[in-house]
Amino acid sequence: MAGILFIISAPSGSGKSTLVSEVRKQLTGIEFSVSWTTRAPRGSEQDGREYHFTTRDEFERMRDAGEFLEYAEVFGNYYGTARRSLEAAAASGRDMLLDIDVQGAAQVRKAMPEAVSIFVLPPNPKVLRTRLRNRSRAEGHINESVLYLRLSEASNEIENYRDYGYILVNDVLDRTVAQLEAIILSERYYRCGQEIPLRATRVLEIAAACKQANSRERLQPVLEAFGIENPSGQQFLNFEEDTDDD
Ligand code: ADP
Ligand code: 5GP
Repeated sequence: MAGILFIISAPSGSGKSTLVSEVRKQLTGIEFSVSWTTRAPRGSEQDGREYHFTTRDEFERMRDAGEFLEYAEVFGNYYGTARRSLEAAAASGRDMLLDIDVQGAAQVRKAMPEAVSIFVLPPNPKVLRTRLRNRSRAEGHINESVLYLRLSEASNEIENYRDYGYILVNDVLDRTVAQLEAIILSERYYRCGQEIPLRATRVLEIAAACKQANSRERLQPVLEAFGIENPSGQQFLNFEEDTDDD
């Protein structure tokens, strides 16, 4: 049987890579797709580990040859998931997790409607800004224009939360890691076709609370902070740095 396909998306700086790398340490039986990108490596990133780094020419050649399941241009660079990454996981029956943007996620959902999609939100714009800054600092330099681009896209990206089955608000890291693990485990339980053991009850409860349909209360303050679904219709964003969040 083919494994489960998980898609995870988030505005840049929300903590998606951190969550994925924590879950990698805890769960077995799941592959993590290494995307192709034309952006330059950041900090300690290594070719073949975080991404396959490539040129625009080579990316376009692969795209034209139909080698990508999905691809998108994000912040001026191409990003894409190679079909062969998925085929290898499917052949072995392992689950697969794709860390892709909202445009890529829409393409994958169309081709594979059975995919499980998870959207990660930062608690508010100030925290997002602080996280992006801290990450840049840790990588050795702060590029203000890159930072601005990523922050200004956040609200647009967040609007897409409606298309995702599960919503995570990445406030306290340990809690969000536990929620992501619970989602993966509960989807495995539901799809294995066997009776779900009693010891799984807590995991199922945690995952159920993260379903979009059950997320209204957690979601509302985040949407308001990002100026989305604001009852007054005002788009008022405050990206001032939150010094408490270091
Ligand atoms: P993304 O992959 O979504 O762009 P990262 O995983 O690179 O984001 O996280 C951005 C920054 O925020 C990193 O410096 C990371 O250590 C930090 N971070 C991630 N999650 C949390 C959290 N829950 N609390 C505090 N800092 C976090
Ligand atoms: P970053 O440059 O911060 O690593 O990633 C920027 C954005 O590109 C993130 O939203 C990330 O999820 C997305 N991304 C990474 N790999 C892929 C991919 O293969 N396809 C698509 N569509 N987006 C990707």
